[in-house]
Amino acid sequence: MSVAVAPDLSAEGLFLVEEWACAEAARAYARWGLKVFPLAPDAKVPIAGSRGFLDATDDPARLAAWWAATPSANLAIATGASDLVVVDVDPRKGGADTLAFLVQQHGGDFLQTPTALTGGGGQHLYYRRPAGLRLPSGVDRLGPGLDVRGDGGYAVAPPSTVATRRYHWEFGYGLDEHPLAALPAWMGDLLAVPPVDEPAPSPRVAFASPDAVPAGTLRGPALAAYATKQRFLEGVAPRLGLPTTALGRAFRCVLPGHDEDRPSAALYRNRAGNIVYVDFHAPDPALKVLALAEVYAAQRWGKVERLSGQQYALWTLRLLVEAGLVAPAPVPLPPLPPGARPAVVKVYNGLRLLFGCRWLHTPGAPAPFSWRFGAAWCGPGQRHVGEAMGALLKAGVIHRQAKVGGLSLFLPGPGKDGARSP
Ligand SMILES: [Zn+2]
Repeated sequence: MSVAVAPDLSAEGLFLVEEWACAEAARAYARWGLKVFPLAPDAKVPIAGSRGFLDATDDPARLAAWWAATPSANLAIATGASDLVVVDVDPRKGGADTLAFLVQQHGGDFLQTPTALTGGGGQHLYYRRPAGLRLPSGVDRLGPGLDVRGDGGYAVAPPSTVATRRYHWEFGYGLDEHPLAALPAWMGDLLAVPPVDEPAPSPRVAFASPDAVPAGTLRGPALAAYATKQRFLEGVAPRLGLPTTALGRAFRCVLPGHDEDRPSAALYRNRAGNIVYVDFHAPDPALKVLALAEVYAAQRWGKVERLSGQQYALWTLRLLVEAGLVAPAPVPLPPLPPGARPAVVKVYNGLRLLFGCRWLHTPGAPAPFSWRFGAAWCGPGQRHVGEAMGALLKAGVIHRQAKVGGLSLFLPGPGKDGARSP
């Protein structure tokens, strides 16, 4: 809230910006080289007849004329024209949670910059805009409730008033009180758009042929490395139903049962450089940050779960194969029995995919299979999976190699003893 400060504490007088009228603040901002323009009284929109940020200026005569015509006009700073980027935190849209997540990921140093408090409980963080980067304005651009004002945008500035509430600088964090921080590099990475003369490669061209991966090589670091690649994200996004591949941009959660009208999820890089799915409304905080393979498995299971190492590898391999990034290992699976029922066909195809993925990791290894896992992996319900597995075992398409607890391990073919029932 506003703190009473003796007028002689600041030579510039901006300490007291909240005591000023917008006309005086406009002159001061302009003196510092910022480009400003008037907004309609008590509103966030440009004054009637104005072209908004396109008219922004630091010319004192122009400013005097505007505020002479409309003394109660609000004040805006044109962000792009002023070489500023403003991050707008809207707590009503989940912005406070998103900000807390970003502090957890990157540390809180980025909060040390001039900050305006909006009338509605939000805050505007001001940054120096890096030269040579295109930084378009956008809603939910850094996650749910975190809008960005950059090129082609503006920020309502103190001491504007909207709905009787006054914008003011956070105490100690006025533009004249605190140095303007450079936009953090990680934020620039999330926001930047490549220059127009360097178009992003078209995914369709880049992914035309799957990687020829020798069986047994997609494990450990080689497999984990995929999680860091934008190419992996571009490839798997359609399978996951992700509406965007832009990191940081909020969208409606695609997890099963998570029906929300508001954008509540976003993709980021975690500290290890992996692309992760962040579910800001996750009922269980332990399941807030998920690997893309976990998102996929959740959609197939119908339930969000943390995957074990082996499960994680299997679902990642499946994503890679289904996205066309990697060719599955060839599997010598005997032909389907003639006249097989649809559930049997589904399980048969699912097993081919399972071995094809498993063998990219460990060639010739048996595949673990429970009815529950089979239902998620292959499609039909658990009862159908049980029946189908029975039919495939009987026909000698697969055999049980071992049983460990409730989990059976299977291999293709009839096995040493020939076909046998489960
Ligand atoms: Zn969700």
